[in-house]
Amino acid sequence: MRRNPRSWQMQTARVAEAWLGRRLPDAERWVRANLIDARGPWCQRCGHSCFESHSPLQGCDLCLHKSGVADGVCRVGRYQGGCGQLVCRLKYQGWWELARPLGQRLAHVVRAECGGDFFRSALVTPVPMPPLRRWQRGIDHADLLARETAREGGARYCRLLWRLAGRPQARLTRSQRLAAKVGGWHLHAFASKRLPGSDVVLVDDVLTTGRTASIAARLLRQGGAASVRLAVVAVREHMNRDFAHKTEVCSDQVG
Ligand SMILES: [Zn+2]
Repeated sequence: MRRNPRSWQMQTARVAEAWLGRRLPDAERWVRANLIDARGPWCQRCGHSCFESHSPLQGCDLCLHKSGVADGVCRVGRYQGGCGQLVCRLKYQGWWELARPLGQRLAHVVRAECGGDFFRSALVTPVPMPPLRRWQRGIDHADLLARETAREGGARYCRLLWRLAGRPQARLTRSQRLAAKVGGWHLHAFASKRLPGSDVVLVDDVLTTGRTASIAARLLRQGGAASVRLAVVAVREHMNRDFAHKTEVCSDQVG
């Protein structure tokens, strides 16, 4: 597994390339090939695909009588298919080079949906990963995505939230996710100076139930954020509320 992507790995990759003739796969080309037809219209209130785009105020049939996720959802595509495979390669196989092209796509979507002025004045922050899981996984994919999204959009990257612990949810069913205890979320001390009146773009890899994003958004609003938009690479869609969570995308995933 690749760790600390900015330092020794890049050197190792260069040495391997120079001495062994090995070249890392072209992340940009890989992303381009897997995102064909990935976007399509979606409901900006819950993130699900629609026949036509729905604004955060309108909502779709699925979220009509439910609260929306944060103040709206921007997404690159659906979790099913190539978009989900990209997330898995970044998240579980440590292919950190994917973070840049995926972050660029995410920035383009946020700019298109929210406007360039909104984006440039916003704070971009990742959904936090507990330190122990970061160490086990060797990569904080949401943090990498947030950095690249902010860089591409000319926005300010800022780690506003932190978590001490949290149970991995990748293998939980939807009902288990909703029933799981969620605690240990905190705002960084310096957030009280930056947050009041700011718009926040909260970045994560996948949106499933929206519970994690809602907790983060609530905390950010309590800290004074004017609005919180969720930006995710993929939305895991389901046609009914009791869907069985057996993903066809990441059958070999760990954690
Ligand atoms: Zn909806």
